[in-house]
Amino acid sequence: MRAMVLEAPGTPLRLRERDDPIPGAKQIRIKVSACGVCRTDLHVLDAELPDIKYPIIPGHEIVGRVDALGADVATHRIGDRVGIPWLGATCGVCRYCQGGTENLCDHPTFTGYTRDGGFASHTIADARFAFQLGELGDDVAVAPLLCAGLIGWRSLVMAGDAERLGIYGFGAAGHIVAQVARWQGRSVYAFTREGDSAAQNFARSLGAVWAGPSDRMPDALLDAAIIYAAAGELVPAALRAVRKGGRVVCAGIHMSDIPSFPYDILWGERQLVSVANLTRQDGVDFLKVAAAAGIRTQTTAFPLTEANEVIARLRRGELLGAAVLVP
Ligand SMILES: [Zn+2]
Ligand SMILES: [Zn+2]
Repeated sequence: MRAMVLEAPGTPLRLRERDDPIPGAKQIRIKVSACGVCRTDLHVLDAELPDIKYPIIPGHEIVGRVDALGADVATHRIGDRVGIPWLGATCGVCRYCQGGTENLCDHPTFTGYTRDGGFASHTIADARFAFQLGELGDDVAVAPLLCAGLIGWRSLVMAGDAERLGIYGFGAAGHIVAQVARWQGRSVYAFTREGDSAAQNFARSLGAVWAGPSDRMPDALLDAAIIYAAAGELVPAALRAVRKGGRVVCAGIHMSDIPSFPYDILWGERQLVSVANLTRQDGVDFLKVAAAAGIRTQTTAFPLTEANEVIARLRRGELLGAAVLVP
């Protein structure tokens, strides 16, 4: 197999050849056909998350076909088209696993972070955490659904029944969630980096009723806002933009420090919450919604070997929608 490997913190990915991995019990091997690039991959590359396994193959928006089965796999067959998400496996016994919030498991593994992911020609996954994709979309178009879509969906559910919904950071997750929100009959307000007219026009083309820089107040107070960008200063900005009783959802795994803010902007029963990871049920629910809503992802495909250049472009905010690597 070939893979783009992160061998130490802060170093570029390196192309490596390895022996094909052998699936263990309850595992499947996947021949990767596409793997999306997510902002979380930047946090792994920059060692902004704790306990990264080195060397690690990043990538947790994997689409491919099962090409080998380990022992005790009854759920998948050779040739099945599957999606491998961020949640690699859970312990199954902690209070969170037992209580229906396996996204908060005390002993999880995460794809492309604590177990090898999809910036590769092949990868191993726990069959119990692999989604059957059937014939949904083409491989490149579906890849961003596996994290941007799925965790985007969890954050949208967390936003409650908000009619006027703000989206801070209009990238891979934002452009998917905006489509779902529109399909549900909500009004979308898109907040981007100052001067990013490409992203603002993109948001309007997807039905946003308002688009502007993230430090501007929208023309009406929001019922809820979801923050996908990793900038802590967006928290007070979003709190100022929501009405009394409104909710601000932080959907990123990492954020720069949140500046202090006057209690006034939280007062009035505004709520500030975070979303962590995903449950398998989120995946089942969202993949149905994605098909029903006819979500069309905006993607650009690149060869796997260009991963470092793609990551640099993502950092500079140069990519519209989602980038996808193809081995
Ligand atoms: Zn657990
Ligand atoms: Zn992700």
